[in-house]
Amino acid sequence: MLNNPIFSIIAREQKQKEQIMSGTITFTMIKPTAVKNNYIGPILKMINESGFSIKAMKLTQLSAKQAAAFYAVHEGKPFYESLVEFMSSGPIVAAILEKENAVEDYRKLIGATNPGQAAEGTIRKLYATNLQQNAVHGSDSDENAKTEAGFFFSFFERF
Ligand code: ADP
Ligand code: MG
Repeated sequence: MLNNPIFSIIAREQKQKEQIMSGTITFTMIKPTAVKNNYIGPILKMINESGFSIKAMKLTQLSAKQAAAFYAVHEGKPFYESLVEFMSSGPIVAAILEKENAVEDYRKLIGATNPGQAAEGTIRKLYATNLQQNAVHGSDSDENAKTEAGFFFSFFERF
């Protein structure tokens, strides 16, 4: 009876609810240029060495429609259409990361949106190409982390 898979599913569901409620989850993407430049390895190394655990991960490519939906909050801004085109131009790595204070700590690790203003030693300072092709995405709130994680990963793809 205890070997019934339903128990492990219930336990995982409970754990995922707790991760979201306690703010220990954030969502990231390694953007197309960083993937092309073979920066997946170095970026994941920095993520792990900064205390984040990977709870879900995939190499995939967004359609233009998916990229438009993911960045819908920026619709109407001058950079929106070009951003959608860029983000659907090649493979990306999507991942869910876990750590105490995940959203804020990960924003610190990636650095400012504009790599020219990003602090020394941050992911964007080290691996960005320019303002648009700034190496990685990082969620800006617990609420968005939850939505963005759900955009890419089903319950069964999260640990
Ligand atoms: P962040 O990714 O730091 O949360 P935003 O949410 O403001 O930044 O913007 C989303 C993405 O849109 C940025 O990561 C960057 O790729 C792109 N972007 C933002 N502002 C500009 C801009 N002024 N010109 C070109 N691209 C931009
Ligand atoms: Mg943002």
